[in-house]
Amino acid sequence: MQSNQSGVLFVTSEVYPLIKTGGLADVSNTLPSALRQLGLDVRILLPGYPDVFEILDWRLVENNIRLFSGVALEPASLYVSKIPNGETPVYALNCPSLFQRHGNPYHDELGQPWPDNALRFGALSKAAALLASHIEATQFTPMMVHCNDWQTGLTPLFLQQIHSGRRIYTLMSIHNMAHQGVFTPDIIPTLELPWESFSVHGLEYYGAMSFLKAGLYYADWINTVSPTYAEEIQTESFGFGLQGLLYGRRRNLTGFMNGIDTNIWNPSTDIELDIHYNAKDLSGKLDNKKALCERTGLSFNAERPLLACITRLSHQKGIDLLISIMPEVVQEGAQLVILGSGESLLEQQLESLAQTWPENISITLGYDEPLAHLIEAGADIFLMPSRFEPCGLNQMYSMRYGTVPVVRRTGGLADSVCDVTPTSLDNKTATGFVFEQEDARQLLQCIQRALLIFRDKPTWQQIQLSGMTQDFTWENSAQQYLALYQQLTGSQLVV
Ligand code: ADP
Repeated sequence: MQSNQSGVLFVTSEVYPLIKTGGLADVSNTLPSALRQLGLDVRILLPGYPDVFEILDWRLVENNIRLFSGVALEPASLYVSKIPNGETPVYALNCPSLFQRHGNPYHDELGQPWPDNALRFGALSKAAALLASHIEATQFTPMMVHCNDWQTGLTPLFLQQIHSGRRIYTLMSIHNMAHQGVFTPDIIPTLELPWESFSVHGLEYYGAMSFLKAGLYYADWINTVSPTYAEEIQTESFGFGLQGLLYGRRRNLTGFMNGIDTNIWNPSTDIELDIHYNAKDLSGKLDNKKALCERTGLSFNAERPLLACITRLSHQKGIDLLISIMPEVVQEGAQLVILGSGESLLEQQLESLAQTWPENISITLGYDEPLAHLIEAGADIFLMPSRFEPCGLNQMYSMRYGTVPVVRRTGGLADSVCDVTPTSLDNKTATGFVFEQEDARQLLQCIQRALLIFRDKPTWQQIQLSGMTQDFTWENSAQQYLALYQQLTGSQLVV
């Protein structure tokens, strides 16, 4: 694709398979790729963490980029490569004192945020504005910058500071309102931001400064990752203090459901599985259940329902609700396999439950992509009792693998799972089990409802097949993003 004056710079703090801590990495891989299929020149910018440079071959595009002059920071440089399995160009911002540290991109081994996160992600935001405005060697002059989450939230403001002589439009995508990048205002001079921006009409947030608020305030448009979450964040329960701003900007706020990568998440071709299956022949699913039980040390019984959960262990995901009813779920005759990492109290509680019922509860602490695939293939039921869920990916992976989801009606879970009711069974639209309140009893009743229908094999199979044949590809969402970019820029954009 030729460089042109109509591309989109997609700036993000993580991209699968270079670096991933959650769903943002998956979106940052697949959305740009789907947009390129539509003919749009989308390129990604992310920080040059060590993992990023270890994976691909990189070519230096530009060095001596001065980000902030008032702080002892070496000049940054920009490298370019292409995302594996696709053609999306990706720029890595190399600034070793900020990004050359192993481990999690956002925090140290003890879970403490890196103390210089404001400078690190201020630098990413500034580099995005500079790259979009003009870095000749890239031969890239985008009309639009698509920012993702707080780590990129200052980009629209930085763009206003740079007089590039042309209008560059900005979209701020929210993947999770709970993370806002809030820092003390003494970082403002270091980041060379104008003090006027430190106001209620700007980036000020209860006396501190918020990267996310800056993005929401200064971007031309705001988007989030499901229609229901776009409504929810305008309310006190989901807006984390920014509901007023979001409500005020509701005419510039949309919600587009994420898709999933159906090449990676496909039970008939999944490279992590020894045995494949599809909607026409589900027999291989049972073999995967056996393999999963062997792998996790659970006793195998084809008739016994196997419930699963793959998740960050955090308050958001409602794991405490699940923990409080796990003994009753086991007493119902079910088994549970859980893969996750996060809050140490939740980790300890889960480990202690697994010690009490070693044949029926398995807990694997850590991040394990191959095991995640085997769980999706081998489990019967997938649990997502989230307090809030901007979009969620695992419920869609689960449906595709014939693993019936049990979810709370919130955010993208509400938008993607159709509850089993007499009507939805009749018209064959039922794909899972949905409960309403943030309440352990309701979760238990919902699981009991699923366990009852699990015994009714024809009905169960109908629910599995309805899920497996849903269209979760990125094409629909990519079309929506393209239409939004076109509306904002008033340009066709595609070549
Ligand atoms: P979030 O981004 O809030 O963590 P999502 O459901 O949107 O939740 O995306 C989570 C992604 O991370 C999914 O691809 C899921 O399979 C993956 N994941 C989460 N925890 C683990 C884990 N411990 N091991 C492997 N994959 C995980």
